[in-house]
Amino acid sequence: MSARPAVVLFDLFDTLVDFERDRLPLVRVAGQEVRTSGAAAHAALQRAYPGITLEAFYEAFVESFREVNARRERDGIEVSAEERFERCFARLGLPETEATAAVRHAALAAHMGALAAATACPPERREVVRGLASRYRIGLISNFDHGPTARALLTRHGFDSVFEVALISAEEGVRKPYPEIFHRACRALRVLPGTALFVGDSLGVDVAGARGVGMPCVWVNREGARPGPTDPQPDHTIRHLPELLSLL
Ligand SMILES: [Mg+2]
Repeated sequence: MSARPAVVLFDLFDTLVDFERDRLPLVRVAGQEVRTSGAAAHAALQRAYPGITLEAFYEAFVESFREVNARRERDGIEVSAEERFERCFARLGLPETEATAAVRHAALAAHMGALAAATACPPERREVVRGLASRYRIGLISNFDHGPTARALLTRHGFDSVFEVALISAEEGVRKPYPEIFHRACRALRVLPGTALFVGDSLGVDVAGARGVGMPCVWVNREGARPGPTDPQPDHTIRHLPELLSLL
């Protein structure tokens, strides 16, 4: 590291906290076994609408995700999980009444609960972050479509009150790799992007985003992937988070 960074900013998912897809509920949909949090959402929905099959729900659940993802990429914005579920329910032809809204909230809560239950945080990552917090100002920028779940996971995995600033894309309306969320974090911390260091696992989201605002970055390449010549180039690459300590 050429100069001591003024702040160290972390990505959340798959950098600090892992999603373990094989811990999601396993269901059979249209002859295929799939692991999906949609199974939990469907169970919540079916209590009010027993006629809606898992197949019908799963199709609307997947299509609503595709739809909001296309908007995220086209417009460079974040679309909240609430809005994704509104689109999912509209696809199912459910009327927008107070009763349906209550079912929608229950289905969203079940989906988020299933996602949260499939997260894990190896203790050494928490130790790295807590250790660095005694020597550096630290912050977090996470792409996630539901702020309360992201914040609950920070607490659950032992990161509460560690971050001076924690921006969740769902609460900001903007997401990585677009510059605005990086600039907001820097403004909140009163630092210039070039004096910060970003640490994240995604080349296309974290490394590209940090580079786009002139922020030095460390890529956590846990899978040992080989980036191509046109991929964004990190300043440093580590395989596991504790290696960060030798850079700082
Ligand atoms: Mg990530």
